Amino acid sequence: MKIGFIGLGNMGGPMAANLAKAGHEVTGFDMADVAIEGVTIADNGAAVAAGADVVITMLPNGQILRAVANEIIPVMSKGAAFVDCSTVDVDSARAVAEQATAAGLLPVDAPVSGGVGGAAGGTLTFMAGGSKDAFAKADPLFDIMGQKAVHCGDAGAGQAAKICNNMILGVTMIATCEAFALADKLGLDRQSMFDVVSTSSGYSWTMNAYCPAPGVGPQSPADNDYQPGFASELMLKDLRLSQQAAESADADTPMGQAAAALYEQFVENEGGLGTDFSAMLPRFEKRGRS
Ligand code: NAD
Repeated sequence: MKIGFIGLGNMGGPMAANLAKAGHEVTGFDMADVAIEGVTIADNGAAVAAGADVVITMLPNGQILRAVANEIIPVMSKGAAFVDCSTVDVDSARAVAEQATAAGLLPVDAPVSGGVGGAAGGTLTFMAGGSKDAFAKADPLFDIMGQKAVHCGDAGAGQAAKICNNMILGVTMIATCEAFALADKLGLDRQSMFDVVSTSSGYSWTMNAYCPAPGVGPQSPADNDYQPGFASELMLKDLRLSQQAAESADADTPMGQAAAALYEQFVENEGGLGTDFSAMLPRFEKRGRS
């Protein structure tokens, strides 16, 4: 296929490289000066989008996505797929899908889970929203860039799935970290805490697979001085998106709201910027109740 790829950063770069490696003809564009193996770099987004069978975007936020969509939708060929893999707000995803559909395109919102390692290794999980035809056109490319793609429903359903998942993740990480900090103060050994909780009803992905306590459980960013991994500021971004969506849909999400406030405090005032999101544990460790 002729593929256009816009946004060749930490995630988009390796995703585009994997598509090229699989034999597709990939042309890319990024605001920054980039070189990606196997990808022809163009001067602007429109040059990438014109004549492409599929255009994939991997951009920082919904505002940038809307601007890029305004530029590329008018030049894309009818019947082409417009696959946005960025994590953006549900309202932007739906607005862009509506605009693309009106122009005769096949839009899919397909945010990913799996991080930079998953992008490089081609093991991402895609959660997709869009029509059956749109999903079918993008699916072979999801197979190359990832290990699993779930068609979640109509436009915006992929973004909805992503922010609901990450709201659970943020809340669970905080719960796991505060429980470790309490256990410390109660004199409970961290290994014993892990051995019990990881096989009891308090178990979770954050405890069992991504344990925030160094030296306990499988290898995780905690064992690498809390270098990300999944950075705290990206968790904050996703928690804010979840609260924006909750506002928009009039959903009551008190735990998500508390998690967003705590990560905001951590990232903006407590040195959390640039640390893994599991660095909540050393944050709690240092504090008392007040
Ligand atoms: P990044 O900042 O490394 O990449 C974004 C790229 O977009 C940059 O290279 C930037 O120059 C480019 N860009 C910005 N505006 C542009 C424009 N108008 N036209 C062309 N290029 C433009 O970010 P990333 O880590 O690659 O993340 C991309 C998206 O994936 C985000 O929405 C993020 O939330 C999501 N995501 C990231 C991770 C992760 O672990 N990094 C995991 C899951 C999802």
